[in-house]
Amino acid sequence: MNCPMSSNGLLNEFSYLFFPNVCAVCGEELLQTEESICLRCLYKLPRTHNFSEEENSAEKLMAGRIPFERIATFCVYAKGGMLPPLIHQLKYHHKPAIGELLGRLYGEDLRGSDFLKPVDMIVPVPLHPRKEKSRGYNQAVMIAQGMSDTTSLPLSVGNLVRVVYNPTQTKRTRTQRWENVRDIFKVKEPQSFAGKHLLLVDDVITTGSTLEACGVALHACDHVKVSIATLGEVF
Ligand SMILES: [Zn+2]
Repeated sequence: MNCPMSSNGLLNEFSYLFFPNVCAVCGEELLQTEESICLRCLYKLPRTHNFSEEENSAEKLMAGRIPFERIATFCVYAKGGMLPPLIHQLKYHHKPAIGELLGRLYGEDLRGSDFLKPVDMIVPVPLHPRKEKSRGYNQAVMIAQGMSDTTSLPLSVGNLVRVVYNPTQTKRTRTQRWENVRDIFKVKEPQSFAGKHLLLVDDVITTGSTLEACGVALHACDHVKVSIATLGEVF
């Protein structure tokens, strides 16, 4: 089965000719050595490096809402900037590879940092199974998988679960959103999280209510510590 030129390989060569891959940021055709984002755009990614900055804006947003150790966001999320189109394609244009790539890059940034040293396990924010089925994947799992690849931290998928499918929240007030998401997550086997420092991973922080609701479910496990990492913070 391990022939050097598999039919799959040939198929990939041909599909490359007919459907050239383009950079998810600038739209330029990618070299075959590039993946999802061209090298020029990769170098220009507006990294925040706020994992080394205590009381950064994400930590201020979540302060007093759930107990957390640290929170960090990978890149600046600015209108007209590089991150919004990447997140949009990751979530709505069936580009899971973008999540894995950004997760790997973020893992490289965090590796060896004081932010990551105490962390035992990476836990992506779950989607409701119905939503995951319609999207085909969970974008937070893709990011977390990439982070796990470059940090060698174990990944936990399926223990923190979303039990309620909640409708779109855009027109609700912060209080209504909080009431809406308070009981939508649960941990199936609390003992496997007990005593662990968990890194909760999502695509972006907006109001923080989803992360807050996950935090409530995680803190129901004994002696859990929670840190949070996302690709960006939407102001
Ligand atoms: Zn580019």
